[in-house]
Amino acid sequence: MTGGTDTMGRPLRRLRISVTDRCNMRCRYCMPEDEYVWLPRSSILTFEEITRLARVFVSLGVTRVRLTGGEPLLRHDVAALVGQLRSLDGLEDLAMTTNALLLARHAGALRSAGLDRLTVSLDTLRPERLLAFAKSDRWDSIVEGIGEARRLGFRGTKINAVVIRGFNDDELYDLIEFGRTYQVEIRFIEYMDVGGATQWTIDQVVSRDELLRRVADRYGSVRPAPSDPTAPAERYQLKDGTTFGIIASTTQPFCAACDRSRLTADGTWYTCLYAAGGVDLRELVRGGASDADLVEHIAGVWRRRTDRGAEERLALADRNTLYPVESLRADPRREMHTRGG
Ligand code: SAM
Ligand code: SF4
Ligand code: SF4
Repeated sequence: MTGGTDTMGRPLRRLRISVTDRCNMRCRYCMPEDEYVWLPRSSILTFEEITRLARVFVSLGVTRVRLTGGEPLLRHDVAALVGQLRSLDGLEDLAMTTNALLLARHAGALRSAGLDRLTVSLDTLRPERLLAFAKSDRWDSIVEGIGEARRLGFRGTKINAVVIRGFNDDELYDLIEFGRTYQVEIRFIEYMDVGGATQWTIDQVVSRDELLRRVADRYGSVRPAPSDPTAPAERYQLKDGTTFGIIASTTQPFCAACDRSRLTADGTWYTCLYAAGGVDLRELVRGGASDADLVEHIAGVWRRRTDRGAEERLALADRNTLYPVESLRADPRREMHTRGG
C-alpha cells in the first residue's frame, strides 16, 4: 500500500526523524535564547518505537529517511538505531544531518551500521566566528569529522551553510574552495523564518539570485546542474566542473513538490516545517494501536494535507519572525531544533 497523494497531488516519500531536541551548539539562527523548554524524557520514543513507526511510513511509500535533531549524535548509541532502520525493506536512502562536533568519534559505527549519507552543517571557516555565532570553540572537531567520514568511505557528503548577511556572506568563495578541497558539495541555505529563528529579519537573508550573482562575479559563468526536482536544493556548476547547491526556501519556496514530513523525538508528526500543530503518534503507539490502525491514520492525514507554509510566508506583506519566544516556550515542538531541520 502507499499513502497516496495529498490534496495537491504530492506523494509521501521522505521522512525526517528528529532523535533528540538537545544540542551541543547554539547557532544564532536556530537556538539564540539563553534557556529552553525541553521535551520530557519519558515522552522520547525508544529506538523500537521509532523503527516501528518508520516501518509503517515505509509501507506507505517513504523511501528516504533522514535522522536529525537537535544534534542526532547526542542520542546515546544512535548507530544502533541506524542499524534497525537499515533493515527496513523498501528504505532506499538513510541519511543524517549533523553539526559534526562528535562525528569523528561516531563515523565508523554509523558507517558499519549502514548509514548511506551525511550532511554536515558548517557555516563558517573561521573558528572565531563559530564561537561568536554558535557558542562552540570546536571548529577543528567539525573539520576532523568531515575528514574522517571521507576516510571511512562515505560518499555524497554535503555541507549545509546558512548564509546570513553581515555574518558569513563574505565566505562564499572560501566555502566553495573548501568543498573542492574536501570533495564535498556545498549547499548555501537562505536564512529561514522558521520557529526558533527569533532574530530573523528579511534584510539578513541573502537570496538565491544574489548568491548566484556573487558567485558568477567571482567564477564567471554558473550554469544549472542536474537536480532532483523533489529535492530542496537546486544544483549549479562552475566552469571547472565544481558543483554547489542553493536551498532557496525563503525567496523561492518549493512547496509544490514537497514530499517531506517530520517526526519529532516525542513522536509528533508534522506535515510541514511551518505547521503550528502536529499529530500525536506516540499516543497511538503507546495506546496499543495496530500497524493497520497507524497506516490508516497516517494515510488519512496525508490525503487531507494542504500545507504550503513557505509559500504562505512569502505572500505576507509584512514578514517577521514566525513565533514569539513565549509561544515557543508554550510548545517547544515549534522550535526548529525540536522539529528537525
Ligand atoms: N544539529 C544538526 C545540524 O545542525 O546539522 C541537525 C539539526 S539542524 C536543525 C538541521 C539544519 O537546519 C541545519 O543544517 C541548520 O543549518 C538548518 N537550520 C536551522 N535553523 C535554520 C534557519 N533559521 N534557516 C535556515 N536553516 C536553518
Ligand atoms: Fe545549530 Fe543544528 Fe544545534 Fe540548531 S540543532 S543549534 S542548527 S547545531
Ligand atoms: Fe514542504 Fe512546508 Fe517546507 Fe513547503 S514549507 S516545502 S510544504 S515543509
